[in-house]
Amino acid sequence: MKVIDHLKEAKDTLFSFEILPPLKGANIQSIYDGIDPLMEFKPKFINVTYHREEYIYKERENGLLEKIAIRKRPGTVGICAAIMNKYQVDAVPHLICGGFSREETENALIDLQFLGIDNVLVLRGDPIKTETGFKPHPEGHRYAVELIEQIAGMNKGHYVIDDIHMDPTNFCMGAAGYPEKHFEAMNLSTDLQYLKAKVDAGAEYIVTQMFFDNKKYFNFVEMCKSAGINVPIIPGIKPIKTLNHISFLPKFFHIDFPEELSKELLKCRTNADASQVGIEWGIHQSKELKDAGVPCIHYYTMSTSASVKTIASQIF
Ligand code: FAD
Repeated sequence: MKVIDHLKEAKDTLFSFEILPPLKGANIQSIYDGIDPLMEFKPKFINVTYHREEYIYKERENGLLEKIAIRKRPGTVGICAAIMNKYQVDAVPHLICGGFSREETENALIDLQFLGIDNVLVLRGDPIKTETGFKPHPEGHRYAVELIEQIAGMNKGHYVIDDIHMDPTNFCMGAAGYPEKHFEAMNLSTDLQYLKAKVDAGAEYIVTQMFFDNKKYFNFVEMCKSAGINVPIIPGIKPIKTLNHISFLPKFFHIDFPEELSKELLKCRTNADASQVGIEWGIHQSKELKDAGVPCIHYYTMSTSASVKTIASQIF
C-alpha cells in the first residue's frame, strides 16, 4: 500500500521509522533485531536508507596509493524485500540521484516494481565524503526534482528507451524537507520554492530532516502552506544517544539544539546520561507533535531501537 494512502486512512498519528543497511558482511538478522522491538507500535511503513560509494586509498606493494571505491552499506533493495516478506509492512527504499545514470535509475525502479515495492523516498544524496560538493552523474540528475520528474514520467509509461511499449509504474513518492533549511540553500524561502517544485512534480508527502525544536517544525509547516505546499509533512525525530551526538548532530545535519535541551546536555558526563536526556526530549517532542495532530512521527533509529522503543511506548 502507498504511504499516502496510509496517511489518508489514518485516524490518529502514525508511527514509522528509518533504518540503515548494516555494514557489509553483517547478516539480515541484525536488521530484524533492530525492527522486532518496534513492531508492537504497528509501523505502517519502514524506510531504508541508501548509501553511496566512498573512496579509500590502499597502499600497493610498490608504495603507491591506489584509490578504491567501496560501498560500506549496500543492500537497500534486498532489505526492503525482506522486510515486506517477513513483517507484511510497507518498506520505503531511499532512492538518490548521486551515482546513477537515468537508465540505471530506471532499472533500479523496475527491480522495485517486480518486488512489489511501490513507495520511494526520492533524494538528491549528499556529496561523497572526498568531494567538496555534490557532483551529478554525467547522465543522471543534479536535483531531486529531476529524479521525481523521471519517476512521474515512468508512472505515465515514459521510459528512457521509449520506443517499446511498457506499462506505467505506480510509485508513490516522498521528498525531503528541512525545517532549518538545507545547508546549501540561500535561505528558507528559496529552499521552499524548490520544495514546492518537488511537490508539483509529483512528491505526495514530505519527510523532514531531524529537528529538536518543535517550533521550527510548526513554523516550517506554516511557511509551506503559505508557499502553496499542501501535502502531509511528516516530522522526523532522532533521539540523542551518545555524548558524541552533542557535537556530531548539529555539525553533520546542520541543525540547532534549543537552549532548554543544550542546558540538559551540558550536564551529561556519560553516554548513558546523554541517552537519558535524548529519551526525555524525544518523549517531550513526540507528545507535543501528537497533540498537534501531525500525520505521522518518523523516528531515525540509526538501526538501534532501544531509545525509540522507550519513547514510542509513552506515545503510541
Ligand atoms: P534537493 O531537493 O535536490 O535540494 C538540494 C539543494 O539544492 C537544496 O539546497 C535546494 O534548495 C537546492 N535546489 C533544489 N532544486 C534546485 C534547483 N532546481 N535549482 C537550484 N537549487 C535547487 N542521503 C543519502 O545519501 N541517502 C539517504 O538515504 C538519505 N535519506 C534522507 C532522508 C531524509 C528524510 C532527509 C531529510 C535526508 C536524507 N538524505 C539522504 C540526505 C539528502 O540526500 C541530503 O540532504 C541532500 O544534500 C539533499 O537532498 P534533497 O533531496 O533534499 O535535495
